[in-house]
Amino acid sequence: MTDRKIMAPSARIGILGGGQLGRMLSLAASQLGMRTHIFCPDENSPAFEVTPHKTVAGYDDEAALERFARSVDLVTYEFENVPVTSAKFLEKFCPVFPGPMALEVSQDRLTEKAFLTGAGVAVAPYRPVSSPVELNKAIAEIGLPAVLKTTRLGYDGKGQRTIGSNKDAQAVFDQIGGVQLVLEGFIAFEREISVIVARRADGEVVTYEPAENVHENHILKTSTLPATISTETAQAARDAAAKIANALDYVGVMGVEFFVLPDGGLLVNEIAPRVHNSGHWTQAVCLTDQFENHIRAICGWPLGETTRLADVTMENLIGDEIFEIAQLSASGQPHVYGKTQARPRRKMGHINRLGGK
Ligand code: AMP
Repeated sequence: MTDRKIMAPSARIGILGGGQLGRMLSLAASQLGMRTHIFCPDENSPAFEVTPHKTVAGYDDEAALERFARSVDLVTYEFENVPVTSAKFLEKFCPVFPGPMALEVSQDRLTEKAFLTGAGVAVAPYRPVSSPVELNKAIAEIGLPAVLKTTRLGYDGKGQRTIGSNKDAQAVFDQIGGVQLVLEGFIAFEREISVIVARRADGEVVTYEPAENVHENHILKTSTLPATISTETAQAARDAAAKIANALDYVGVMGVEFFVLPDGGLLVNEIAPRVHNSGHWTQAVCLTDQFENHIRAICGWPLGETTRLADVTMENLIGDEIFEIAQLSASGQPHVYGKTQARPRRKMGHINRLGGK
């Protein structure tokens, strides 16, 4: 169901997923006068802290999903592994933005790569792999080193291994095989960047400047603006993100991650059909941050200003790092997600600091 009407400030927005992204979406919605209802199976969800309306139930609980959908004006989500069947079920009762097609495309790396290639956007060379024989054939075609990934449910480096030599291939297959895999050529990229794009149903699209991303232990550590890239590469990345959003007839905010090659060329690594960790810097230095633009987009409001007003670095606070937040707050804009346990590798908050490097 596509609904192009403009939502009133009193709109009720349902959000699937109760993590920090849902929490910050909820805060942005309340700034516009809207109420949010969070649906999440985990009763300790950080997003439950910022709205009185919540449902604790599984994403496959149709009775709970129906009650939820009937209590709101539209539904959105904060993570890409919402079951497509649940999104389609919800659409019987109210609009769901972004539409289920964006979920379908981004949940499976093979579907995603085929879609991106069809949309005219370059990706790393890849081959589907579901057996050791196929892996050897793919290695012969793509060459080594290469990265073997599960096609579904991989994030923060989970479900992927680099293959350096032919003798490693079987061992790597044994570690992550048993499910559909994809072999990607290893890209000797110069840096990683990402673009946040917002699009609404009437086709209006805005993009933010690319952020330069640094990972530690496969988890995003910093996003810095400006990225160390040419103006041509920056524009090409923004154009590619807009092209992808248009090809998906996308409604909402999406994150697009790129590898920047030594010659300034770009390959898309992956897309995330939601607000994105590498877009948190927008909270400090843009008139409209990514969360507000997502709410505007799904509610049919005009999209907000994306100009970057200052150089900035966003740093993720992971695990125990959050315990230093009071002292750290002296140096920038703190955001604390309110998670009850600071486990290792868990994103607990972030801080935006002025000054790019
Ligand atoms: P992903 O889960 O696909 O986003 O990958 C996580 C990280 O692994 C990326 O941000 C890259 O740093 C690295 N990576 C993934 N795929 C490749 C590749 N084909 N070549 C080189 N590095 C990669």
